[in-house]
Amino acid sequence: MDTYRNFIDGKSLEAASGRTYEVLNPATREVIAKVPQSDEKDADRAVLAARRAFDRDGWPETSARERGSILFRIAGWVRSHAKRLAELETLNNGKPLAEAEGDVADAAFCFEYYGGLATKVHGEVLPVPGQAFAMTLREPVGVAALIVPWNYPIMMAVQKVAPAIAAGCASILKPARPTPLTMLEMANGFAECGVPPGVVNVLSGPGNSIGLALVRHPGVDKISFTGSGEVGREIMREGSATLKRVSLELGGKSPNIFFADADFEAAVEGALFGVFVNQGEVCSAGSRVLVERPIYRKMLDAMVEKAKKIKLGPGLDPSTKMGPLVNQEQYDKVLSYIDIGRKEAKLALGGGRPPDLPKGCEKGFFVQPTIFYDVDNAARIAREEIFGPVMSVIPFDTEEDAYRIANDTPFGLAAALWSRDHFKVMRAIRRIRAGIVWVNHMQPAMVEAPWGGFKQSGFGRELGTYGLDEFTEVKQVYMNLDEKPIGWYL
Ligand code: NAD
Repeated sequence: MDTYRNFIDGKSLEAASGRTYEVLNPATREVIAKVPQSDEKDADRAVLAARRAFDRDGWPETSARERGSILFRIAGWVRSHAKRLAELETLNNGKPLAEAEGDVADAAFCFEYYGGLATKVHGEVLPVPGQAFAMTLREPVGVAALIVPWNYPIMMAVQKVAPAIAAGCASILKPARPTPLTMLEMANGFAECGVPPGVVNVLSGPGNSIGLALVRHPGVDKISFTGSGEVGREIMREGSATLKRVSLELGGKSPNIFFADADFEAAVEGALFGVFVNQGEVCSAGSRVLVERPIYRKMLDAMVEKAKKIKLGPGLDPSTKMGPLVNQEQYDKVLSYIDIGRKEAKLALGGGRPPDLPKGCEKGFFVQPTIFYDVDNAARIAREEIFGPVMSVIPFDTEEDAYRIANDTPFGLAAALWSRDHFKVMRAIRRIRAGIVWVNHMQPAMVEAPWGGFKQSGFGRELGTYGLDEFTEVKQVYMNLDEKPIGWYL
């Protein structure tokens, strides 16, 4: 079993209290590591280190080229440690190894993308009247707390820390309590790749102590948060005392809409992939599957047949297509929603623990791919985020019906639509209120393209150039070119 330490001010440190907690493999419930149980004191240490790096040691004044080179070196470090990082991600989160390998490859590219972008952050000259010159500068927002969830531990963290480095911010990264291992491991990479002390700090621990301490800390300028709406609201409230800049990437209940003219085979797979990939622990999961009436029954039957074959098991087994949920809490939550679903709709598949788990996984947090149908969009399983492998199938009759049902949700993170009629596709794109719309696909997330939600799915954008803007402030500069006095009091 490995023991990890925090990474603060360029040093590997135990929690100030000396306390640790155990991290589990969710497929077996075995303890795989001990990590620091950080608290307010550690948060304070990390913020002081970040402030020193930002205010005193000249990090924001480093050249963009230098920050870009550091990011390219980190990308190289991730690639050369890809096998170890992917295996660790799978052991800690449960996801199939092929998915973790994809996440690590995306993380490496994300460092490269922002490495390239570091030298393209600039302001503009503004056409002001008179003898004057005006311009904008883009400057780093300061010290940023990066608070991430457990479903994509490495990628969620990297899509914050890479633009923060590119912009010249100093940051404190807090992984989710159940899944800190890949980021604690990556701290070695930050040190080896020349990230100056205090510029990136990583500390593990519970959200309601250390996360909250960062949100309340007067030394933190910006909170970049990905997680649940409930915690997002608390962060807005608590961060308002010091008027922190806040960006929130929250949950969803995304519609995956199938028109009758869609390619049938692609549709069936797209519906399953949309909600069962990553065990359904995906913020943009297509958990509401809207199907046009003429293909409703046929598609339901085909989805059930195909979903029956999804192989559950430990993520490190290459034949596994679905791993365990992340922990007991999430397992209990998903099963309780399945109980609710049994009362609200008809069950076509799944509905509990798989009967025949591979040897060694008997205690793992596995839940069967579950399909409810004839679901009313007003049902709780259609309105609330379950964050597990639970699909709600809802029929619709007309295009208007589809848009009405799709938009009838407090969320607005993502949506997908499947059709071969490009007129219909264009109409649908405009009518759907969501930050991401996929056409004839569901779930691709590209480092180059913005990610974020409408409505209660949050605000701010990650990834692409938009993700870097979140870590900058705009400064206006006005230069008088007229040597005469202003002349007002003469
Ligand atoms: P969560 O809100 O419980 O926790 C997220 C992070 O916040 C963790 O690091 C946690 O320790 C920390 N935290 C908890 N309480 C805190 C507090 N009071 N103050 C400060 N920090 C605190 O979410 P989760 O269960 O880890 O993740 C699942 C949620 O994340 C889902 O709702 C999902 O939709 C959302 N999510 C959104 C996106 C997106 O891009 N929009 C991506 C992934 C996950």
